[in-house]
Amino acid sequence: MPDNAQQFASDNYSGICPEAWEAMAEANQGHQRAYGDDEWTARAADHFRSLFETDCDVFFAFNGTAANSLALSALCQSYHSVICSETAHVETDECGAPEFFSNGSKLLTARTEQGKLTPASIREIALKRKDIHFPKPRVVTLTQATEVGTVYRPEEIQAISRTCDELGLNLHMDGARFSNACAFLGCTPAELTWKAGVDVLCFGGTKNGMAVGEAILFFNRDLAEDFDYRCKQAGQLASKMRYLSAPWVGILQDDAWLRYANHANHCAQLLAKLVEDVPGVSLMFPVEANGVFLQMSEPAIAALTARGWRFYTFIGAGGARFMCSWDTDEARVRQLAADIRQVMS
Ligand SMILES: *Cc1c(COP(=O)(O)O)cnc(C)c1O
Repeated sequence: MPDNAQQFASDNYSGICPEAWEAMAEANQGHQRAYGDDEWTARAADHFRSLFETDCDVFFAFNGTAANSLALSALCQSYHSVICSETAHVETDECGAPEFFSNGSKLLTARTEQGKLTPASIREIALKRKDIHFPKPRVVTLTQATEVGTVYRPEEIQAISRTCDELGLNLHMDGARFSNACAFLGCTPAELTWKAGVDVLCFGGTKNGMAVGEAILFFNRDLAEDFDYRCKQAGQLASKMRYLSAPWVGILQDDAWLRYANHANHCAQLLAKLVEDVPGVSLMFPVEANGVFLQMSEPAIAALTARGWRFYTFIGAGGARFMCSWDTDEARVRQLAADIRQVMS
């Protein structure tokens, strides 16, 4: 297959959607003030405030690792700790950046059920040690949609938030795939965040049609104090900020963000449906967002790779992850499903 054929390794294999691309082109007319003091950045922040139906503080970073790490560092001191799931991106895929940017706040991993934290698993970690020798739990971070493609229901977030209130913990959400969660649940962004008790959201754009860029939304605005300095110090203040913010205007203004997330989710459902009766193949997790996790034999995985398919197998022996994106072609999904059927026979 050609080198640029659509793949399912990650949703960030995809390119830039037309809405984001056109907004960048429009922002490319003439001169604008630098460092976020421009009209595109103001417009993007206003779009977020109207989409989330609240007067939140909005910042932009180049990628999710920076957004998560800086947001977490704003929520705790170096002697605090952050409770996350054992599969959390902050724990497994950010090279220690959350600890680095917070000057040492330790991540504490909690048990999960289908990739999700629960009030019980948070309580277990938060109450395990209460002495001065252990970093004091201060933040819970949850990922919506999760790293294994499942989605927290509003009630689940509310319950976690109540636990956080009881234990004096701030609540952060890694929303690299927040759009996919909104699309799956049919909930408003507000219902899944501040209305359910989330203090800070990192809203991912890259995996849903943007070139680069994540937005950091502080619903609890006290926590945003000096956050602009944190971004600058970390090398995350874009001088030509309009090229990070304009694409957000592009994808937010006509709900492209939600349409594309719906499409990606739909393609994941289609893939799951097409392989559900293949002998020896089973779903490792319910398909709720845009990822399909399949248990299949090692020789079959090798054969799929040999046929040119790219996908991740980091979820243990015999597990393969297939991610759909904003532009996934249904014909490609059908091809992949047919190949899975063949290599398993
Ligand atoms: C992709 C992703 C991120 C962001 O990763 P970057 O490569 O730093 O942009 C954060 N959290 C989750 C769950 C992700 O899947």
